[in-house]
Amino acid sequence: MIADTLRDRIRSGGPLSIAAFMTEALFDPRHGFYATKDPIGAGADFITAPEISQMFGELLGLVAAQTWLDMGRPDTLKLIEMGPGRGTMMADALRAARTVPGFLDATEVVLIEASAALKAVQAQTLGPSGAQIRWVDRLEAVAPGPSIILGNEFLDCLPVRQALRHEGVWHERLVGLNPDDDGAFVFVLGPPLGEDEALIPARLHEAEDGALVELRPGDRQVVDLLAARFSEQPGRALFIDYGPAQSEMGDTLQAIRAHKKQPPLEAPGTADLTARVDFESLLQAGRDAGLKAYGPECQGDWLLGLGLEARAAALSQSQPGKRAEIARQIWRLTDNEQMGELFKLVCLDSADLPLPPGFSAG
Ligand code: SAH
Repeated sequence: MIADTLRDRIRSGGPLSIAAFMTEALFDPRHGFYATKDPIGAGADFITAPEISQMFGELLGLVAAQTWLDMGRPDTLKLIEMGPGRGTMMADALRAARTVPGFLDATEVVLIEASAALKAVQAQTLGPSGAQIRWVDRLEAVAPGPSIILGNEFLDCLPVRQALRHEGVWHERLVGLNPDDDGAFVFVLGPPLGEDEALIPARLHEAEDGALVELRPGDRQVVDLLAARFSEQPGRALFIDYGPAQSEMGDTLQAIRAHKKQPPLEAPGTADLTARVDFESLLQAGRDAGLKAYGPECQGDWLLGLGLEARAAALSQSQPGKRAEIARQIWRLTDNEQMGELFKLVCLDSADLPLPPGFSAG
């Protein structure tokens, strides 16, 4: 059990960073939440936009094909997805993009997936697409060349750190064990952040005691890898995730099991653990790394702007029995009380590409 392994680590080595706790809980190869099962879907733990509606992946596929055209139809294109889950979004994207002549012949699909269980599901979902598909563990392993990178709800499960303001100094917040109940995980105050204080957005730096800020080192790593890749060859990365447009204070670590929120430290390995993406810092990191950065655009506006309703009308016409279901899918993806406003898109581009579809100039 992961909880036992984590307890042993804390007993022998002291409290763990939240990032280390998350990494273990999600990706321990034997017992991690993602490693062992397929948690995505109505009957499982959580549901995502591509699982709500095929139209989501279809629109992303059309954007990918348009991007390939804008790149000048390179002979080979890597269409990379980070964290493809069940493979549904890629299957829908490829089906829609097939309508653009030449696109599929040029495209090699590369999936970056940490979970063995989900890789197996992806192979099944994408088998019928007929596309060439490869799996790699990390972006660095993808050969150079023009690329389009997609990631839906990928960034939110990259491990976060938390900083807590205590007596006028920023400290790391760690996970330890409750001294009165040796088995229970609790948050504890760790050492001062030291030079990592520089990672706190400047606007939030001076804060009252008790303030909490989340740091997302994983986002920066991804941005740096993109910048290195796109400095050689044209590239576009589109990420869709949940979080505020502007950096905010506060603890957003959340655990979800069977569609319900759980206390985040209670049962590592049995629930999804995510934290809100800080889009302001992500875009700033992109610009600092020399990328063109666009967004965030709210998911609802973006999908509607790209013609979601026209696509829905066409689908409803071909499947009249599904009219009500399709209308409900639009509502779930775009309504502000549903996913429409909390979920957002950002686009990080190499210097040579035109404005990405559905974004306004940054
Ligand atoms: N994009 C899918 C799944 C989202 S869940 C959808 O929208 O339905 C997050 C996905 O990212 C899972 O496939 C998970 O296994 C994968 N993942 C998370 N962190 C990862 C990492 N560091 N490396 C590779 N895959 C990762």
